[in-house]
Amino acid sequence: MIIYEFKVKGKDRQYRAIDDAIRTSQFIQNKCLRFWMDNKGTSLNRYDLNKHCAVLAAEFPFADELNSMARQSAAERAWSAIARFYDNCKKKVKGKKGFPQFKRHCRSVEYKTSGWKLSTTRKAITFSDKKEIGTLKLKGTYDLNYYDIKQIKRVRLVRRADGYYAQFAVDIDLKVEKVPTGQVVGIDLGLKYFIADDKGNVEQSPQFYRKSLKQLNRANRKKSKKYDPKKKKAQQPQSTNYHKAKIRYARKHLRVSRQRKEYCKRVAYSVIQSNDLVAYEDLNVKGLVRNRHLAKSISDAGWSTFRSWLEYLGHKYGSVTVAVPPHNTSQNCSNCGQKVKKSLSTRTHVCPHCGFVEDRDVNAAINILTRGLRTVGHTGTYAWGDLPSWAIGANLSSNGESTNQESPSL
Ligand SMILES: [Zn+2]
Repeated sequence: MIIYEFKVKGKDRQYRAIDDAIRTSQFIQNKCLRFWMDNKGTSLNRYDLNKHCAVLAAEFPFADELNSMARQSAAERAWSAIARFYDNCKKKVKGKKGFPQFKRHCRSVEYKTSGWKLSTTRKAITFSDKKEIGTLKLKGTYDLNYYDIKQIKRVRLVRRADGYYAQFAVDIDLKVEKVPTGQVVGIDLGLKYFIADDKGNVEQSPQFYRKSLKQLNRANRKKSKKYDPKKKKAQQPQSTNYHKAKIRYARKHLRVSRQRKEYCKRVAYSVIQSNDLVAYEDLNVKGLVRNRHLAKSISDAGWSTFRSWLEYLGHKYGSVTVAVPPHNTSQNCSNCGQKVKKSLSTRTHVCPHCGFVEDRDVNAAINILTRGLRTVGHTGTYAWGDLPSWAIGANLSSNGESTNQESPSL
């Protein structure tokens, strides 16, 4: 599954119609969740939620206006949250199990194979349900003519700080032959460096967020100055200037996240192109981010984005990607295997047992590669037996951006 994204152009009235469709989709998603909560203990399944959509459509005229398959999509979103929760309980995941939450700020609505039609040139899309979104121009460099309409499984409209976008999920498994390089690599994800490999190459951390912090804070302050708590109390809307400042602030954030994404993609691409096997740590990023001393740096590094790209591009170009358990990769000596305790601030690995001296992250990268090679011998490509994370992203179950949108440069 590949996702192509276009910016859409329409009239103000059409954007309001998209907002309305998004709101309705959120309403159905929440109502389905409520339905599940009220029927817990019964053997309620995803089909019951789908059927519940029809009940909602009969009861609420605005729900009836949304295409029936788009309604089902909304129910599926609710179900995927429920399924994830059940799954976490079954697997006995430590800590919170992620009990499904009601959504308040949905930013997208998803159509499946009906309710929309592409123009003959495929540079415009018309939505035909009673939300009356109408015809939107598609702005972008991708060419949808290349695919059979039947291959387009989902169309999703997304609202962002700088406008509205349409994403097309196209059902193809893109594979490109690559000449084997004979190289293998182990990489350590770091904070001081973005990545360090077992051969001693390091890629500096770009720290997009930290670098933009001054600008972001200024925009945030401007936004706060225009906020009027009295209006909030009186339940009146905030001023136009407040909303303008809010959008300016959100756009700055959007810019940082796009910079990070492009960067991760570029680094992942070059790693995959120059190696036949890539080993990296199977980090629990969410757990690490909870450490508030490191949170900002870790979120800024974009490890999970990087990993998704690595796995996706690895699949595409036929390089093996292996996630290895992260325990003690930085502590153990990569030369003799003895454990050499060191704190986070110790940057160099000096082994008292065999005298091996190496940069801390490079030592870790060597350990990761050794583990990776050991794992691959008997388990194959995806060492953990789970779906690679890019495939999970591709089913469009999340609410924000998907990671595997390709840009024309790749
Ligand atoms: Zn040693």
